[in-house]
Amino acid sequence: MSNDAVSTPTNFIRHLIDEDLKVGKNSGRVATRFPPEPNGYLHIGHAKSICLNFGIAEDYQGTCNLRFDDTNPHKENLEFVESIQNDVRWLGYDWGDRLFYASNYFERLYEFAVELITQGKAYVCDLSAEEVRAYRGTLKEQGKASPYRSRSVAENLELFARMRAGEFADGAKVLRARIDMASPNMNMRDPTLYRIRHGVVHHQTGSEWCLYPMYDYTHPICDALEEITHSLCTLEFADHRPLYDWVLDNITIDCHPQQIEFSRLNLQYTVMSKRKLTQLVEEGHVEGWDDPRMPTVAGLRRRGYTAASIRDFCERIGVTKADNSIEMGVLENCIREDLNVSAPRRMAVLHPLKVVLENYPAEQVEELAIANHPQDESMGTHRVPFCRELYIDREDFMEEAPNKKFKRLVSGGEVRLRGGYVIRCDAVVKDPRGEIIELRCSYDADTLGKNPEGRKVKGVIHWVSARHALKAEVRLYDRLFNHPNPDGDKSVESFTAHLNVDSLLTLTNCYLEPGLAEAGEGSRYQFEREGYFCFDGVASTPDRPVFNRIVTLRDSWTKIEQQEN
Ligand code: ATP
Ligand code: MG
Repeated sequence: MSNDAVSTPTNFIRHLIDEDLKVGKNSGRVATRFPPEPNGYLHIGHAKSICLNFGIAEDYQGTCNLRFDDTNPHKENLEFVESIQNDVRWLGYDWGDRLFYASNYFERLYEFAVELITQGKAYVCDLSAEEVRAYRGTLKEQGKASPYRSRSVAENLELFARMRAGEFADGAKVLRARIDMASPNMNMRDPTLYRIRHGVVHHQTGSEWCLYPMYDYTHPICDALEEITHSLCTLEFADHRPLYDWVLDNITIDCHPQQIEFSRLNLQYTVMSKRKLTQLVEEGHVEGWDDPRMPTVAGLRRRGYTAASIRDFCERIGVTKADNSIEMGVLENCIREDLNVSAPRRMAVLHPLKVVLENYPAEQVEELAIANHPQDESMGTHRVPFCRELYIDREDFMEEAPNKKFKRLVSGGEVRLRGGYVIRCDAVVKDPRGEIIELRCSYDADTLGKNPEGRKVKGVIHWVSARHALKAEVRLYDRLFNHPNPDGDKSVESFTAHLNVDSLLTLTNCYLEPGLAEAGEGSRYQFEREGYFCFDGVASTPDRPVFNRIVTLRDSWTKIEQQEN
């Protein structure tokens, strides 16, 4: 998708809500919820759902609940519960006192199940999981009734109570809805409502329950109990909507929220399912959930993305029912545009080459005032020390210019130091292997802030004072996978085959302006000519600050695509 195509975001859900409000549906109320399962960290796809649900609540003076869908205790834990709350808050949203857990309703859910049984609409089934699957039939073939389908209400009530009391082993029995084994919709062929799980300690309810409700049963009831008006979910739930409605139509409950499906976000060159992200973490392909290469909110934050840039991205991609795969460049442009305006400029030398200004007094130090932003004077200036020994980047020097476009320093040539003087390279010092280790230069004292008389010096390079520089580690990131859809390639056994082995380049010998020693968690800068960088508070130690490259100055993805096509 090009940037033009996303400049007018569409959001069909807002149109539907406008229609509802026009006809006075839900007495003009708008109530949404974001229902994560605490079995992993949130990713950028969840951010889309968060921005949609909380954004709608904000714009319509409605409410948005944060509700943990915690019905699978063996995969869930408190670390995930906490990280999710942290990430939603960081994205800029506030659920106030509207924090809920599906497990808050376990007793109510149980009572509704008893109601279904009493009406003959649910039964206890002793078939094994495999048998249930076999009996369910296929898309072409009707299902077959379970032999337990005709159990009496009294027997079902008694068995269900004994399931709760812990009398049966895992898998020995389930509670199923009695709907229609011939339904063309497989979800309606007597779906499981409850299963037995012994020996797991639930992060909220401890060991109180050994009976856990299924998502498709739990979700509509939680929505209704919380009086949600619009229950927004991703497209794969469209086939589950008849079951969502069936549950609410067959129990005694006043509220019936409307389920509306939208297409999930897919982002190229990464994976988005929690199962796959878990695998990357557990198999050690990345440092953790907050590895700056991960598409998780925690990873993007550590990489240096701002919450505003992620919200902007979610706005730009819009909300539709169309299958889509968004280019990484779209996300990167959002942070680039944000930081182009807001990030102060600094100088950092990533591949240092020593420069000695032979005509500069050995003990002298000047404090040069350099603008924080080339276009925004209101951002002020900062002071940068200048002295006899400097570092410049190796790539800014060549003994001979390779072509006319090379405007940097060459032997015998001149270049301007950003915010400083014009210097000339007089001699090149090499080691015995012929590698350049130092440049001997001279500076022109008359050129501070003005051009030398009658000489054209076009090139401007960045530098730092060797004596004052802050030594740092800088991490450059590339895409985590070298395939646009690592998930979708069936020719490899695992998506991990497409991991990009060069996704992290660590530069341990970088020299930064000394003022950067004050950088703290979340400090972001443009390192002149190198890109946008963020201080990494997790990786840094007191004597070794670490900076992450958030994004390059220009979009490098289009180039990659062109090379590959
Ligand atoms: P995953 O498939 O990544 O494991 P999930 O759907 O199982 O995600 P949940 O915790 O259940 O994860 O998701 C919470 C909410 O976020 C759901 O409403 C879900 O529809 C939404 N969501 C999940 N992934 C995406 C995505 N890629 N794009 C948009 N919304 C998403
Ligand atoms: Mg889910």
